Amino acid sequence: MKIKNLEFKKFITASKIEEKVAELAARINLDYKNQSPVFLPILNGSFMFAADLMKEIKIPSKISFVKISSYSGTSSTGQLKTLIGHDESLFNQNIIIVEDIVDSGLTLENIISELRSLGTKSVEAISLLRKSGARVKNIDVKYVGFELDSEFVVGYGLDYEGYGRNNKDIYKMIETDRI
Ligand code: 5GP
Repeated sequence: MKIKNLEFKKFITASKIEEKVAELAARINLDYKNQSPVFLPILNGSFMFAADLMKEIKIPSKISFVKISSYSGTSSTGQLKTLIGHDESLFNQNIIIVEDIVDSGLTLENIISELRSLGTKSVEAISLLRKSGARVKNIDVKYVGFELDSEFVVGYGLDYEGYGRNNKDIYKMIETDRI
């Protein structure tokens, strides 16, 4: 598959993803029995994963899609990032952040600290994919689907320059074809 200047090959099939999603959901159903968690999928990348995951979640729960927005701060500190789209009801809630992929873990670290500052009861994360960088930094992701090295991947919600999100399989970039 080609997207713009890059060539990709199939890496994780839709059926493998489906199996993994069911497995992760089963763990959450057990761990969060009687806790009514609030799922916070981070747009855009996690839209497909979140939709499939939620179909397998059997416990009472809420879902609220959020986005990370960058804006220029008024001080000289420059770019700040903040979560947008969530409502006030996160106070005292058990939150499960839903991510597509964790790479360095910086994005997730920031989201977790922002959520903690809102007075949430607990904050955990689920990510379909996790790269080795986050493992090295020991970023705590309670539920991980697949561990990757440093492959650049697209599909199942993940994009390359906006394209490729609509694929039901996950593809990885073929290094030698990189321009
Ligand atoms: P982190 O802050 O953990 O380094 O970066 C996480 C974000 O980087 C993800 O939410 C995703 O948007 C992007 N990202 C990291 N690796 C990949 C990848 O292999 N493919 C795509 N499409 N996005 C990635």
